[in-house]
Amino acid sequence: MLMYLPHQERLDNEILNAVLAERESADFEHYSANDVKIALKKSFLDLEDFKALLSPAAAPLLEDMMWAAKAAKERYFGKNIYLFTPLYISNHCENLCVYCGFNSRNNIRRAQLDDDGIIKELESIASAGFEELLMLTGEAPAFSSVDYIANACRLASERFATLGIEVYPLSVENYAKMHENGSDYVTVFQETYNPRRYAQLHLEGDKTAFGYRFEAQERALKAGMRGVAFGALFGLDMWRQDALSVGLHASLLQKRYQDAEISISVPRLRPIINNSKITPKDVRERELAQIICAYRLFLPFANITLSTRESVKFRDNAVKFGVSKVSAGVKVGIGEHGDDKAGQGDGQFEISDSRDGEQMRAMLRLNGLVPVESEHVFLG
Ligand code: SF4
Repeated sequence: MLMYLPHQERLDNEILNAVLAERESADFEHYSANDVKIALKKSFLDLEDFKALLSPAAAPLLEDMMWAAKAAKERYFGKNIYLFTPLYISNHCENLCVYCGFNSRNNIRRAQLDDDGIIKELESIASAGFEELLMLTGEAPAFSSVDYIANACRLASERFATLGIEVYPLSVENYAKMHENGSDYVTVFQETYNPRRYAQLHLEGDKTAFGYRFEAQERALKAGMRGVAFGALFGLDMWRQDALSVGLHASLLQKRYQDAEISISVPRLRPIINNSKITPKDVRERELAQIICAYRLFLPFANITLSTRESVKFRDNAVKFGVSKVSAGVKVGIGEHGDDKAGQGDGQFEISDSRDGEQMRAMLRLNGLVPVESEHVFLG
């Protein structure tokens, strides 16, 4: 397993080793329906309970899990559902992740927004009522340098109350620079926590270093970020093992950084430009619902974010039983919020739910839920 490249900062591997050891030894066949029922009665679950909820024995009890997850969510979040929208500012990428439309070998229209382009997009999104933004780039330091991203953070933080970034993993020093420029949330997807599978899927670029990516959230917290987000991309490897790894990674980091706000995302594979056959295979909506419930019950205080990769129907149900944060008004290409077609670049994957902010807010209200734009104040 390639853990780091020579220029990459290293932390201790304690959490990484604990997650990989647990993943290797987990035997999901070992759990019974009774183990699942015991877990569903608890207010605080241990790791064994979490594994029981991810096991095959839990599948027939999915409805019970959904009721328990709903109660847990309402205990910590009430009726609140947080809204945000992503903004892609560059689709250049130096990595070769075989499942992603931005990968360096995929023949797509590449684009990167300059200051004017970024401001136009920010103002278009802000005028739709959003107060939380997640800013994304492909992973290409040669194009999207640290200074470029930091400047984009500064522009965004002048217009949004809450700003997260999803960019290539940075050093502590560079995360601190993003924080100084107004970002206080960092999302990094490990994609799969199976090191062998990871090596088969990530063929070129800095992303080949499994350990450096794994420790990105910890570096972000050391740099002063308020919160961090985790995720596996379901469909790449065995979903039970990946969900277990995500939950354990998040909980161990929470124990070490008790003030950190933790989020988990639950993306599944989607078709990309030039490869319409990519699918999440055995992770159907039923399995995705099981994963969401297991996360919600194991880490009841964590945000669970569901993207527009999922269908309208699934999203409308998921906000009732486990999900606490959703995106809306999503454009996955570059410059797509404005009407300047010339500067546009292609998107990362196909979305499924194309509703805008107003439509999402209306749906939430119709279901007795409360759309929340932002409840954070950036203090620097
Ligand atoms: S997943 Fe990220 S790093 Fe990989 S090709 Fe896509 S944008 Fe680049």
